[in-house]
Amino acid sequence: MGQALPVSYVRVVGVERITPRTARVTFAGDALAELMEDRPDQQMKLCFPREGREVPRLPEPDADDTYGMRWYEAYLAIPEPERPLMRSFTVRAYDRRLGLMAVDFVLHGDDGGDGDDGGDGGGPAARWGRDARSGDVLGMVGPSPAYARPLPVADWLLLAGDETALPAIGTLLEYLPAGARAVVYAEVADETEEQVLDSPGEVTVHWVHRDRGGALTDAVRGAELPAGSGAAWLAGEAGAVRALRRHLVDERQLPRNAVEFSGYWRVNLTQDDAPTEEDLAWAKERAAQGSEAS
Ligand SMILES: Cc1cc2nc3c(=O)[nH]c(=O)nc-3n(C[C@H](O)[C@H](O)[C@H](O)COP(=O)(O)OP(=O)(O)OC[C@H]3O[C@@H](n4cnc5c(N)ncnc54)[C@H](O)[C@@H]3O)c2cc1C
Repeated sequence: MGQALPVSYVRVVGVERITPRTARVTFAGDALAELMEDRPDQQMKLCFPREGREVPRLPEPDADDTYGMRWYEAYLAIPEPERPLMRSFTVRAYDRRLGLMAVDFVLHGDDGGDGDDGGDGGGPAARWGRDARSGDVLGMVGPSPAYARPLPVADWLLLAGDETALPAIGTLLEYLPAGARAVVYAEVADETEEQVLDSPGEVTVHWVHRDRGGALTDAVRGAELPAGSGAAWLAGEAGAVRALRRHLVDERQLPRNAVEFSGYWRVNLTQDDAPTEEDLAWAKERAAQGSEAS
């Protein structure tokens, strides 16, 4: 007997602007207690209702559809004007006692002011995050242990990403063993976007500010990294992630399988757009790395 795809509904119970351009949305959901694992970097897909609809309509998963192929076909068969939009997100925190899940939405396209700029920049997920209210309902596919990316083991760890990677970086730091050494490079719009990142590890955080001309790739290229064996975890804009991965493997001589990397978004492309040739080539590279590691 297979396992059904983890499809559920979650309901907003609170919204807080933790920075001018980040909305932390707290969700409750009947399936959360069963779905949430005690591990960092849990990824899932959130399903947003189309305009004019209150609740996203999703197919029922069936028990023998382990990889969700039949579910996905049924999802694609929903006429486009009704088909919910799916976007990838990270569980920033889960409070098992209260049964609540926090997700941080980067409000890209927002001017970063009071959120009342009237602008409709960004994509559907960012717009939803900006206007989220208690009682709103989203669909959720995942999280699933199938997407767990265990951190490579080394003397020190480099975590690098932009604000979309901060929820994952935040949980990865919280799960570090006491005393473990980590260096974080985080690219954000400006100083107001910095967040407090707690960890039992020995962590140095470098904030890279776009408003001062900073860029993640330049900052990591110029970084003085600790001695000893290193490993890296990279996420954010796909082009930047690829450039960083090349730099760490080719110039810093980090072993290929010591560099975990994932493009979280693509310039001028939505998450509905098909993968480019380059995306496919890098997906192959990641898959090859994954099978080497296992
Ligand atoms: C595994 C995984 C985990 C993720 N976790 C999170 C998370 O916890 N929180 C979070 O906010 N995001 C997260 N992301 C990134 C998020 O899925 C993308 O940013 C997504 O494109 C947002 O959807 P959208 O509908 O707002 O924009 P889309 O409709 O996908 O894109 C619309 C336009 O916005 C641009 N765009 C998309 N994202 C950004 C951005 N960050 N900055 C500037 N321009 C952008 C695109 O290039 C496109 O032109 C994660 C992605 C992955 C793959």
